[in-house]
Amino acid sequence: MSSFLQQMFAQNPSTAEASRRPWVFLPYDRQNDRLGVVANNPDAGILLVESHAKGQARPYHRKKVMLVLSSQRHFALEQLEKGRPVLYLNAPESFGEQLRTVQQRLHLGPLLLSPPAERELRKDLEAAQANGLRLQYQPDTAWLSTEADWEHVFGKPTRGRQYLMERFYRHMRQTSGLLMEPSGKFAGGRLSFDEENRERYRGQVPVPPRPTFPVDAITREVVEMIDRLTPNTLGTSEGFDLPVTAGDVDVLWQFALKRLLPFFGPYEDAMDSREPVMFHSAISALLNVSRLLPGEMVRDVEAQYRAGKIPLPSAEGFIRQILGWREFMRHMHRVTDGYRTLEQSPDPPANRNANRYSPMLAKEINAAEPDRPAVPSALDAHLPLPPAYWGERSGMLCLDTVIAQVMQTGWSHHITRLMVLSNLAVLCGFSPRELTDWFWISYVDAYDWVVEPNVLGMSTFADGGLTATKPYVSGAAYINRMSNYCGQCALDPKKSTGPGSCPFTALYWSFLERHADLLSGNQRMRMPYNTLGKKSADERTALRERAERAVEQLERGEIVT
Ligand code: FAD
Ligand code: SF4
Repeated sequence: MSSFLQQMFAQNPSTAEASRRPWVFLPYDRQNDRLGVVANNPDAGILLVESHAKGQARPYHRKKVMLVLSSQRHFALEQLEKGRPVLYLNAPESFGEQLRTVQQRLHLGPLLLSPPAERELRKDLEAAQANGLRLQYQPDTAWLSTEADWEHVFGKPTRGRQYLMERFYRHMRQTSGLLMEPSGKFAGGRLSFDEENRERYRGQVPVPPRPTFPVDAITREVVEMIDRLTPNTLGTSEGFDLPVTAGDVDVLWQFALKRLLPFFGPYEDAMDSREPVMFHSAISALLNVSRLLPGEMVRDVEAQYRAGKIPLPSAEGFIRQILGWREFMRHMHRVTDGYRTLEQSPDPPANRNANRYSPMLAKEINAAEPDRPAVPSALDAHLPLPPAYWGERSGMLCLDTVIAQVMQTGWSHHITRLMVLSNLAVLCGFSPRELTDWFWISYVDAYDWVVEPNVLGMSTFADGGLTATKPYVSGAAYINRMSNYCGQCALDPKKSTGPGSCPFTALYWSFLERHADLLSGNQRMRMPYNTLGKKSADERTALRERAERAVEQLERGEIVT
């Protein structure tokens, strides 16, 4: 057993000590003592749990498991240091089962907690409650918005309606007072400065070197545990460089706030193989385990803006991500029951053996099982995710570059997720469920409430337009304009048909052609459909053939030529 666990088990309280006080259960994604449920219960001890079942449910990227567990272990030690009693569990069973057992064994009262963010954990606890686990819920102060905020903007969930993030964000800005003038107007006179945030990066401002955080003994013990319990995880432990102590998390946040965010806005959408992180804070993994609290972050950003240190478009752009998108996404997941309320369209069983990587995702989805993963696919996309997403070279430099980054670090920035990885999947017709599961296991910041709405909703249009007014798709021109990838690629972004042409453009036109029934009436798609209408039958055939060849090559794991 690791020395950390030995140390924790040795100091776990006796039955007599434990039963005298209330206990707060903080899940793996609520590692913070400034949360209401801890701060409002000063006499309570903190109950922290590691569940092997959770780690074995998916082959999560090693760096994600390292971050979550090492950070939780450091958090436990920090709490002991502050004088908070900690009860630490580590066992094969689910969270709910471990809590139920310890509650009975130590004669604990109802455990205090906030409603878990992850649907999976809510279901796990519900099952244990049916077997006798007693819980007492208190509000989750980690969120910036409430269910009432959502209902104020959108009313009760109704089938077939559309949810616009901008409406929600407008309400949140007005009620939070963030970036608002005393007159009640938005700072700078506008809700959003998104349109100003679209510059290509050509080295105009050097990206400052990020602080580094060497791996310590606690993290090394987590790696040993991963090797023992879940050896077939994705990615590598080498090069782990995420902060796992409260102090180091603050160092990274202060660096992001002072050195990166002033330049965040203009280069928010830029992609560059030499600067894969660019001016992005890359703090989502820390935010999603609550080492950083969103309320504190947005106030810090506003203070820097008021002090003249962050220009308004950058401050607004960053605050919109957290106050707008992040909150919006978690409500989307909640009101659709993780997209289970939508029409479902499962992938064919053959997908489970499509290539040697398919078992990483494979799960039999029984349509009669009420808790099955959601499988909406409004575009009827069901092709298996090809080997290129698992690190095999495709010859498409944008794809290969981003995938290599994800395999190494478990992270890439928003536009690479949206306009490279998802864009290609949508254009080719890869299964949105497979893509979602791939994102879920590959990224250090992925949890059901955030990865499902981003992939099934925003990026693949699998929800039929509930989240996005049109599919986020583009040809090669967008990637060529916003990145330095194309200049080094063997494929030609300016050529759309024939050998050596970039497949993105042909894929784009044949996607529009294939989905004309569903999309051509969409006002926001009018221009591309007009352009498509002007193409001759021969041009369209050549585009279709080029697109089909690329999909076949990708599916076979070959280099795209
Ligand atoms: P910044 O760009 O600096 O933004 C600041 C913060 O805002 C982020 O840390 C994040 O917490 C929040 N944020 C921004 N956009 C979103 C969004 N669309 N949804 C939720 N929060 C947002 N984000 C995750 O946290 N987990 C995921 O699993 C995830 N999967 C995604 C999958 C796809 C296909 C796409 C297109 C986006 C996904 N995102 C996800 C959103 C976004 O890409 C990441 O939050 C962001 O890239 C993280 O980098 P950052 O910390 O530098 O973010
Ligand atoms: Fe990607 Fe096409 Fe550019 Fe190559 S040419 S990097 S495949 S967009």
